[in-house]
Amino acid sequence: MSQIEGFREETRIWLEKNCPTGAKGIGQVPTGSTKIKIEDPDVTLWLDRMIEKGWTAPTWPKEFGGADLSTEEYVVLIEEMRRLDARPALGGMGTSMIGPTLLEYGTDEQKQEHLPKIAKAEVAWCQGYSEPGSGSDLASLNTRAVDSGDHYLINGQKIWTSGAQWADWMFCLVRTDPEVPKHNGISFVLLSMAQPGVTVKPIRLISGNSPFCETFFDDAVAYKANLVGELNKGWTVGKRLLQHERSGMASLVGAQSRDPGATLQEVAHSYLGTDREGKVADAALRSRAINHEINDAAFALTRKRTVQEAEDGNTPGPATSIFKMYGTELEQDKSSLMCEIRGTQGIGWEGSSFDSDEIEWTRSWLSNRAASIYSGTNEIQRNIIAKRVLGLPD
Ligand SMILES: Cc1cc2nc3c(=O)[nH]c(=O)nc-3n(C[C@H](O)[C@H](O)[C@H](O)COP(=O)(O)OP(=O)(O)OC[C@H]3O[C@@H](n4cnc5c(N)ncnc54)[C@H](O)[C@@H]3O)c2cc1C
Repeated sequence: MSQIEGFREETRIWLEKNCPTGAKGIGQVPTGSTKIKIEDPDVTLWLDRMIEKGWTAPTWPKEFGGADLSTEEYVVLIEEMRRLDARPALGGMGTSMIGPTLLEYGTDEQKQEHLPKIAKAEVAWCQGYSEPGSGSDLASLNTRAVDSGDHYLINGQKIWTSGAQWADWMFCLVRTDPEVPKHNGISFVLLSMAQPGVTVKPIRLISGNSPFCETFFDDAVAYKANLVGELNKGWTVGKRLLQHERSGMASLVGAQSRDPGATLQEVAHSYLGTDREGKVADAALRSRAINHEINDAAFALTRKRTVQEAEDGNTPGPATSIFKMYGTELEQDKSSLMCEIRGTQGIGWEGSSFDSDEIEWTRSWLSNRAASIYSGTNEIQRNIIAKRVLGLPD
């Protein structure tokens, strides 16, 4: 038996023994937030066991709470978790965004300080990038950070800060030099959300949810020890973080892309009926569903190839924009088809005339609208692909 086959067998046995029922299927994935209570004891048990194994951040070095897994082993772990329908024990921006960025750009002290807390689920992070007036043109941001001895004093405003109301720390882009061209005066800092200079106001949506916030800084403090990368070179660090966000290794492997309920084929057969040859009766929708499945299969193969080609468990560079753009459009296409196939049953929001899958897909169709906006809109991804991947002229 090869080393990797042995690892798969050990992993399968360990997961079967240690993943409790309440950590399978759809449900809560902790972020490490000190402000969110974990309701189900199974979720806590699963988290504790995975932390002990180093599998909340599997490819990170052991000294930072990881398990030092190779890319190949990591893929096996994710495949085995999916086989069991096990949820990730820990999610959020710590393991997927700021952690990998600190591994590349952080000082030894920053890694020692922040990475183990992330891997042990002791802290949740939020992203302070967008500002009113600075979204796609992020480099025009105005939040000002002024040198004040051992720290920077920060004044300004961020917006659309996902989960800021539950976050303990923020990674943030700030302007440290307003006199130079816009990309050259930005720095990347880490700051605690638990300080008097930070005010968070959740933005209430029509659905009643508040997935994101406005975040105000009035003399907020970011210590110089928490400047990541060089002063005024934050644009490079900030862009790299976006690449991790757009296509972390876990999402490339497909760990988090579980769909609720039945497959597209099953739904089409059940709602549209079957013709004499056993095909889905509605020819137009049948053809769109098949087209979707072919594209989905091709995309899965492209992701698999990319993961196999990655040498160090790291996310690729500008090519991540392809995964972000294509992946979100594919998801939008799927949720749209899922609702169209269901006809009037595909527009259920609540009530007993709709089953849980119907309601789940309506909500997923609506929430998926945001996927081509956050983490940089898909128009911006097309610009990056044109310039940085295809090398087309400006
Ligand atoms: C659900 C959700 C969660 C988010 N979470 C966070 C978060 O945690 N932290 C954070 O900092 N931000 C967050 N954002 C903000 C997100 O990054 C911005 O919404 C996004 O970058 C677009 O910026 P904007 O909203 O200012 O739109 P604009 O930049 O004003 O764009 C408006 C339209 O113009 C188009 N456009 C703009 N410039 C160009 C161009 N050069 N070429 C072609 N088309 C262009 C855009 O594609 C878009 O269609 C979140 C957004 C959403 C929807």
